[in-house]
Amino acid sequence: MALNLLVLGPPGAGKGTQAERFARRRGIPRISTGDILREAVQTGTEIGRRAKAIMDRGELVNDEVMIGIVKERLDREDARSGFVLDGFPRTVAQAEALDAIMAGRDPLVVVDITVPEQQLVRRLASRMICEACGTNAPAGDASTQCGRCGGRMVQRTDDSEAVVLERLKVYHRQSEPLVEYYRSRPTYRSIDGAQTMDRVAADLSAAIEAVGNGGRP
Ligand SMILES: [Zn+2]
Repeated sequence: MALNLLVLGPPGAGKGTQAERFARRRGIPRISTGDILREAVQTGTEIGRRAKAIMDRGELVNDEVMIGIVKERLDREDARSGFVLDGFPRTVAQAEALDAIMAGRDPLVVVDITVPEQQLVRRLASRMICEACGTNAPAGDASTQCGRCGGRMVQRTDDSEAVVLERLKVYHRQSEPLVEYYRSRPTYRSIDGAQTMDRVAADLSAAIEAVGNGGRP
């Protein structure tokens, strides 16, 4: 059975790191919207060219184009045995479109990584970025030297506490209807993201095992 996983979680919950780790361990692609959007634009598929035109006008890519790009990516051969989706859907309309894309495929397992807001603010407001190459330190990592190029790590300027609080507010406004949309499904799980990376990874695997055969009895 294909392992079709959707990871939800606020900024600072370590969602990207967990998605990446899990995908690597299971040998399935991690599909993050930022990456596939760039890829579609670069490869110049029809939908990619439409996305580029929108972005060149300085506008945000609309649902229809984003959904098209996700569909194109999920239809590729390497996603047949499963995938980890990260950053999509962001809205109920996108979630409905994803259900339509998933029709006839194995069920979607939805894992929501939750972290108390206070802790997110602490993690995000202390996040560091490399002065030289722009690499972000993982949330909670306060090293002073870049792991990639050895450059100096400084605090991200956009991560002041007020900015962080605003980002979290936007996230909650957007994600609450989405969580509501998925919550009642037998394939939905919520896990505690306020633990070490390893514990969260273990809980993520356990949640997926618990869902087992996709929630079918
Ligand atoms: Zn660096």
